[in-house]
Amino acid sequence: MAIPQTFIQELLDRTDVVEVVGRYVTLKKGGANYMGLCPFHGEKSPSFSVSPTKQFFHCFGCGKNGNAIGFLMDHAGMNFVEAVKDLAQNAGMQVPEEDVSPQDRERAAQARQKQTTLTEVLEKAGEAYRKHLKSSPQAITYLKNRGLSGEIARQFGLGACSRMFGVPRPV
Ligand SMILES: [Zn+2]
Repeated sequence: MAIPQTFIQELLDRTDVVEVVGRYVTLKKGGANYMGLCPFHGEKSPSFSVSPTKQFFHCFGCGKNGNAIGFLMDHAGMNFVEAVKDLAQNAGMQVPEEDVSPQDRERAAQARQKQTTLTEVLEKAGEAYRKHLKSSPQAITYLKNRGLSGEIARQFGLGACSRMFGVPRPV
């Protein structure tokens, strides 16, 4: 499942990493950043910092860092899509691919199947017409009189149908 990069960017613009990390870690404002006990390694004094301006978290103890999506993946054990969906829900945004409901997918698959069947039917019909042309001297003469050789007739898949016209005619 592919999520457009533009959507990810907009999602991150509308997301506050401080709020996301704050769901799991108690953060205290210290200067421009927020500090807390790192959730990725055991520590007694906070070396885990979250920057609201850079929208990044960074641990001076273990070196873990990333954005809001990365935090949810690393800390909450979500995969990329789950993290994006979680943040989108929070931001009141709709993940583009979620528009496709299982019903819509089913309908699309059926339409494809129908198209395939139709193509097969047309191919079979064309084959029948071509066979008919081969066994119809009048049709062959007709085509030859019009300057079409058997080779060209084959190449263009020309066929004849006698049921429709009584007399074999090229179709
Ligand atoms: Zn750490």
